[in-house]
Amino acid sequence: MIDFPLSRLQPQAAVVYAALGLKSGSQPSSRSSALLQRALELFTNCSEPQGVSEAIGQDEFAEVYSGQGRNAQDTPLQKIFPRADRLHLFAFTLGARIGGEIKRLFASDDFALGSLLDAVASLAADQAGRVAEEWLERQSPEQKKSALTRALLYSPGYCGWHISGQEKLFARLPPGKIGITLNESFLMNPLKSISGVLVAGPAVIHQFSEVYPFCDHCKSPTCRERGMVRSA
Ligand code: SF4
Repeated sequence: MIDFPLSRLQPQAAVVYAALGLKSGSQPSSRSSALLQRALELFTNCSEPQGVSEAIGQDEFAEVYSGQGRNAQDTPLQKIFPRADRLHLFAFTLGARIGGEIKRLFASDDFALGSLLDAVASLAADQAGRVAEEWLERQSPEQKKSALTRALLYSPGYCGWHISGQEKLFARLPPGKIGITLNESFLMNPLKSISGVLVAGPAVIHQFSEVYPFCDHCKSPTCRERGMVRSA
């Protein structure tokens, strides 16, 4: 069971401002600071974090990963997961209340507070992925545990894993028990939810030097932030 304390999920003020495009080193106005304070209070009051995780073998994951047969021909994950020590399917949600509050703020034309709460909730959901990665690193058997063991989350909709892969992932890991459902476009409801597979193994298995055709359209090259790209 993975624990998701709000204190671990709540983003730092500087991270929220950066996500909203404030240049690093710029001083936010006192109005912005007060709004962020209010957004963080709403985050604390409206979040209901819950996660679900299930170990899965490589052969079974290969079947889940094949999805509806719509993945890119060549992807990083198809080379990474066969070299992993452990695989866990994973889903997390901040719950429906916070999404409802964001909707309510936008509907009442409170765009400033709505945008801030939306950014805080998105960053918190991303942080839940990091909490889960650290949890899996701690679960590694003693003989395999080392400073070089690294767990990373890979998600449908990214890096060549087609979003329709959510269908088989959700069938094998019923996230319905934590209140997440899929719509016809395979998007999750509640909106502030994440899903995918946690892949644990030696750090080197996550690294690659190839550039994939889908990278041309990538708006957030998280592979670089996560240190997965090595020079050829
Ligand atoms: S550039 Fe983007 S799409 Fe390509 S591997 Fe990195 S994160 Fe994935």
